[in-house]
Amino acid sequence: MLYPPEFGQDPLYPQAKDFKIEYKNHVVGSGMVTLKRFKKGDTIAKLAGDVVESIRPHSFRISKKKHLNDKYFIGYFIHSCVPNTAINTKALIATALTDIEPGSYISIDYSATEDYLFRQFKCNCGNKKCRGVIAGKKETKRTGLSLMSYYEGDDDY
Ligand SMILES: [Zn+2]
Repeated sequence: MLYPPEFGQDPLYPQAKDFKIEYKNHVVGSGMVTLKRFKKGDTIAKLAGDVVESIRPHSFRISKKKHLNDKYFIGYFIHSCVPNTAINTKALIATALTDIEPGSYISIDYSATEDYLFRQFKCNCGNKKCRGVIAGKKETKRTGLSLMSYYEGDDDY
């Protein structure tokens, strides 16, 4: 279990045997590496954290005024403009957007869950579709919204 015991013992929570925190580089810092294989569409884990009323470095917005702060698991997800994972902020699950091989960093699009990020940053993800400066959903008119539509109108996740 990667979460502290006070979060409960839900078997869908990320298990320590399935993930490890690995140092990537001095720009990104450490990331969460999966030791397990996931197929596109698989649930990676159920998410938990402290519900807080303001944005934090590792939080994501779950409602108009509430943010979930998860410094144990999601806090280590790295950003990619072409991520392998999406967070469903209503169901509080992380879902694989692509097949994910063991040894891969879990990546999300930091702009997908936030209008404005806690801290803007310059992206070096290296993808052809890299947006350069990552600031939040409202950074530009269109980009960053594409991932949200993954769940919109999709009731049977
Ligand atoms: Zn990028």
